[in-house]
Amino acid sequence: MDKNILLTGIGASPGIVISRVFLFDQATSDFSHFRLTTEAEICAEEERLESAVAESKAQLEKARKEIRLRSNKEAQFIMDTHILILQDKLLKNKSLKKIREERVDAAWALKTTMNELRTNILDLDDDYLKDRTSDMDYIEKRILRNLAGKKENLLSNIGEKVVVIAHDLSPADTVNLNVAEVLGFVTECGGKTSHTAIMSRALKIPSVVGLNGVTEKVENGTIIIVDGIHGVVILNPDSETLLKYNQKREQHEEFEKSLLKYKDLPAESIDGFGIRLLANIEIVEEVSSVLDYGAEGIGLFRTEFLYLNKKELPKEKELFEIFKKAVQHVAPHPVTIRTLDIGGDKFISHVEVADEMNPAMGLRAIRFCLKETKIFKTQLRAILRASAYGKIKIMFPMISGIVEVRMIKKLIKEVKEDLKKQNKPYDPKIKIGIMVEVPSAAIIADLLAKEVDFFSIGTNDLIQYALAIDRVNEQVSYLYEPLHPSVLRLLKNIIDSAHENGITVALCGEMASESIYLPVLLGLGIDEMSMNPVAILEIKRILRSISYKKCKQITKRLFSYSTVDEIKNFLKKETKKIFPA
Ligand code: PEP
Ligand code: MG
Repeated sequence: MDKNILLTGIGASPGIVISRVFLFDQATSDFSHFRLTTEAEICAEEERLESAVAESKAQLEKARKEIRLRSNKEAQFIMDTHILILQDKLLKNKSLKKIREERVDAAWALKTTMNELRTNILDLDDDYLKDRTSDMDYIEKRILRNLAGKKENLLSNIGEKVVVIAHDLSPADTVNLNVAEVLGFVTECGGKTSHTAIMSRALKIPSVVGLNGVTEKVENGTIIIVDGIHGVVILNPDSETLLKYNQKREQHEEFEKSLLKYKDLPAESIDGFGIRLLANIEIVEEVSSVLDYGAEGIGLFRTEFLYLNKKELPKEKELFEIFKKAVQHVAPHPVTIRTLDIGGDKFISHVEVADEMNPAMGLRAIRFCLKETKIFKTQLRAILRASAYGKIKIMFPMISGIVEVRMIKKLIKEVKEDLKKQNKPYDPKIKIGIMVEVPSAAIIADLLAKEVDFFSIGTNDLIQYALAIDRVNEQVSYLYEPLHPSVLRLLKNIIDSAHENGITVALCGEMASESIYLPVLLGLGIDEMSMNPVAILEIKRILRSISYKKCKQITKRLFSYSTVDEIKNFLKKETKKIFPA
């Protein structure tokens, strides 16, 4: 194998690890396929298939039981899907028919059946089912493995410290994972919110996902470097690279350890100006780790992931339980739940939406909810009911004007009245806020501030719309610039308007987690910042070493420059003087 093979994927859980590869290979390609000639052979193959399916089912059901005990909803859902696919009559009957009629062995019959089922699904115009093809791959591999008589591949007892490499990992594979042995994960499938990504973050194991073809490039025992911070994997490193990464790993571990001391210290500048640092989360499983990062609550609970990839819309009870769990876990801290921000580049398969030329400017977020009021009201009921169990705030995305806010308030009033009639408790004083992320809202922030209890600035969208650059289009990403003079003016207007009207203002876009912007946001007077929890301690460390007074002076000067370069150069020069080493 060549030295230093560099592969780039998506960094899903930060950290650096160097170890040997453990190829978690549920698939088995070493089948010799054969034709069946006698009735006895046909019966034997039918029986083999039946028992491989039964064995796979027993394995998955055992795993499901254990996952239930840990009440991990997302993992349970994946397991339910896998078991449903496995129980599909078509899968087994079609394969059995092939064995009998085409006189092929069980493995061949299963593979061709699965191929046909997958092709049929891919032809359908159904995103939910299309997403299920990776679940089908998974089931196929499990049955094939059992057909080959191989032992179930377990991550509970590998016998040495390894980095697990797999096409995909299901909760069934990771349920009994031995954290003392599994030091890292690399998978071909998945993005930042895949099961592997979420689980590795929860267990604080470095991981890189979305590395297409990696299982074919490695062998068991290959030395591998996993850099979950940058989403990089290096196979078969030479001694120089090993030395370099060993140093990086040590530095990173030292750095993480040194940050821990900030966990319980107040988030304030050296001259005593305090702001609140909170966590952004996407699924309820992330709740358990936010306090470990010193978050003072959840500043943005993005709820769309509770709706994506589901066969049906989530029920009120399910949403209520999730929100209740979140708020009880972080109590006495608050949880700000953002209502469904669907549309744009995120769709749910069971709601009909027209194809749009410009989805980012289309029927997205609050526009979708104000049209689909039944879906919206179900979510509002769940949020309000959960508010009886802790401090919940509701926040609405993509607000562009006053009328939307008034329509929302009317719906909230109706929902509250219904709940009252039904004797269902809720917090009658629940705070209502908006994301300020559309330029029109930023410009009329003074008017909006009179209508709501708080603002949260969504810089990811605000910058996209203010500078007219599609945030998912790589061709124009070079224009994405939080320090553009227009963005700074919008931020100033939003923050000043909020304060003049006596309401608080948070910022929950990616800008909150990058230290270079901290002096600017502090200088502008931000009250609260919400970010990826892993960034909180580093931001707190810097905050605790800089002066609010100085940040105000720097920020004032920024407004005297007219280009991004001038602003950046000045800011870089100044931050060099005030940032800790
Ligand atoms: C934002 O737009 O800055 C934001 C936090 O929301 P999202 O990234 O979910 O659109
Ligand atoms: Mg947004």
